[in-house]
Amino acid sequence: MNQNIFSTSSITLSKSAVRQNVRFVKKKLADNVLLSAVLKGNAYGHGIKEIVPLFESANVKHLSVFSTHEAELVCQVKKKTTEVMIMGWMEDEETEWAIENDVEFYVFEIGRLEAAIHFAKRLGKKAKLHVEVETGMNRTGFEQEHLEEVMDLMKENKEYISFTGLCTHYAGAESITNYIRVVDQIKKYKKICDLFEENGLVPKRKHTACSAAAMSYPETQMDMVRIGILLYGFWPSQETFIAYQRSNGHGQDGLDRKVKHPLKRVMSWRSKIMSVKEVPVGEFVGYGTSYQATKKMKIATVPVGYAYGFARSLSNQGRVIVNGKRVAVISTVNMNLMIINVTECKNVGKGDEVIMIGSNGKVNVTVASFGELSNQLNYELLSRLPMDIPRKVVI
Ligand SMILES: *Cc1c(COP(=O)(O)O)cnc(C)c1O
Repeated sequence: MNQNIFSTSSITLSKSAVRQNVRFVKKKLADNVLLSAVLKGNAYGHGIKEIVPLFESANVKHLSVFSTHEAELVCQVKKKTTEVMIMGWMEDEETEWAIENDVEFYVFEIGRLEAAIHFAKRLGKKAKLHVEVETGMNRTGFEQEHLEEVMDLMKENKEYISFTGLCTHYAGAESITNYIRVVDQIKKYKKICDLFEENGLVPKRKHTACSAAAMSYPETQMDMVRIGILLYGFWPSQETFIAYQRSNGHGQDGLDRKVKHPLKRVMSWRSKIMSVKEVPVGEFVGYGTSYQATKKMKIATVPVGYAYGFARSLSNQGRVIVNGKRVAVISTVNMNLMIINVTECKNVGKGDEVIMIGSNGKVNVTVASFGELSNQLNYELLSRLPMDIPRKVVI
């Protein structure tokens, strides 16, 4: 993969960071809770094929993806014993491939359940099903009124089904705003679990939690958690991080106020300065009038623009690191390049390293570092990093 020779930027993945994040998450889990690492969105932009061996070497034994295509990529590189689960899109016919390859998958529609049973019969092999139920997110999941039919089908076809999971997803566990909604969802989910069990249908694993739920609502951990963002070294939201710190005695009166970061960024994304120039006071920089020099300035261009995954929404907002200093992206991000303010950087020149994500000793930047309010942007910007940026694993 990614055997291109030339590129305007490069990504490195830290094996030790993966190990540390896995260790941190596992410490937060109750005994016997299985950790499933979520690899959707090209592993949050990190690269599925590159990240799978890193998770495996950190002793992660279950991986979750969105689609059959992503499962296919995982299956090309994973160890035989590593379990894979599809949480989202597959054509009904693709359930055949999944059953053949021991890939677990969500069912949230009768059609997919029937297709799974059909192919399981034909292959003479059980389909590993995760029944997703609606509890209040209103996205996917069987509605209450369909549960009878689902359970009947499952009972009638017991020999073709392995009831691997009963699951749901919370509508925003990363913000206290959604507290009541999430608590309602937990209650509803538990009722549905009881209903299945009363019908003699006992799932191998109950699972509901993403990163934020696993951290902030420990009762949601159940038998398995589906953790994405934390494993890559980012918090689901600033709020989740603050809640974590408080629960560990930081930031309360009289207690340690020093911010401790237990997670390590797995990815570092770097490029180089392509050229440096001076701009007189009063001049506009870049397209249009979005940035005006309020004093004599030194600016630099970096060959990474929105076509390369640096979002245009970071215009006049983003931060990058140059020579150990955090500097601002100014003016609009262009298709192929961005302009940064290096007025305060001494001896800066062409070829100097620019860090878009990662750290240089003490200073670090995240994709959303310009405003921690928009941590949600981390998910979007990470997963939009182009697949063809070369990725290299480092220790
Ligand atoms: C994305 C996703 C997760 C993981 O979410 P994080 O916030 O990254 O931990 C878990 N479950 C489902 C269904 C998801 O779509």
